[in-house]
Amino acid sequence: MSRFLAVGECMIEMAPDGAGKFVMGFAGDTFNTAWYARQVAPPNVEIAYLSAVGTDKPSDDMAAFMREAGIVPHLRRRADQTVGLYLVSLEEGERTFSYWRSAAAARTLADDLDSLPVGAGDTVFFSGITLAILPEAGRRRLLELMARVRSDGVTVAFDPNLRPRLWQGTEDMCRWITRGAAVADIALPSFEDEAAYFGDADTDVTAERYSEAGAGLVVVKDGPKPVLIRAGRARETVAPDCVADVVDTTAAGDSFNAAFLMALADGGSHAEAARAGCALSAQVIGRRGALVPVQAPVRT
Ligand code: ADP
Repeated sequence: MSRFLAVGECMIEMAPDGAGKFVMGFAGDTFNTAWYARQVAPPNVEIAYLSAVGTDKPSDDMAAFMREAGIVPHLRRRADQTVGLYLVSLEEGERTFSYWRSAAAARTLADDLDSLPVGAGDTVFFSGITLAILPEAGRRRLLELMARVRSDGVTVAFDPNLRPRLWQGTEDMCRWITRGAAVADIALPSFEDEAAYFGDADTDVTAERYSEAGAGLVVVKDGPKPVLIRAGRARETVAPDCVADVVDTTAAGDSFNAAFLMALADGGSHAEAARAGCALSAQVIGRRGALVPVQAPVRT
């Protein structure tokens, strides 16, 4: 693989500094995955991010943040628009999130998109949140482009990342998520969400469903429980190491996806890639915040 491209929405993050003030950062599910991919990928692999932003200072700052992080921004610029924002609140140690994203330029990312900057052998990654924020025409356009690059030899990876509040309703969400999986080679669902909104009884049911939808490789994450890998009829599990001090599970799944996809693209087996995913997310949940300093996991 020479390029990993993530597609979606990056937002401004305002996080409490513990002394009554807020620190501004940038994060968002697909962006977090790109950011962690940059931490673990060899330097010759290009990590890129495709979205839409405004023309204001925060949009410029976001683009600069990406460049400084070693991520190549493919940002469509929308005049008089801006980027979404979320604020983290701390209540008795628990983090809660408030979002201002309904007017974000990212919702227009597919409006005039007629190709994806990837070629045979590259990997492109998107999520259920990417689909959720787009108007229906944008979802259709993005899925068509994903299907097209897939037939050209690009690996398409998809994390359903179910967020019912971003959708008209659960049924609408489940229908589009299944369409997302239909254009993907790799689906990376998290069991807790799948059980809640698709009613899956266990991880095998989740794997079977995404496999039926069209994803040849399904990797079901399940918090501290074993990761289930389903490739065609083959099935194996990888148990994450126990993490004694879980500080904040934000971006656990995003970082898992990054290490998994990078290890796989580097020639690792499914089990090796899952172990790399578990090792990276174990570091991430031990620190507070979405983007935390990590060490690239060694393949085992
Ligand atoms: P998401 O963040 O998408 O909900 P999960 O919670 O399923 O994803 O976690 C993704 C990965 O993070 C897991 O497969 C596991 O490797 C790691 N992880 C999450 N929670 C824990 C935990 N309590 N102990 C150890 N590993 C964990």
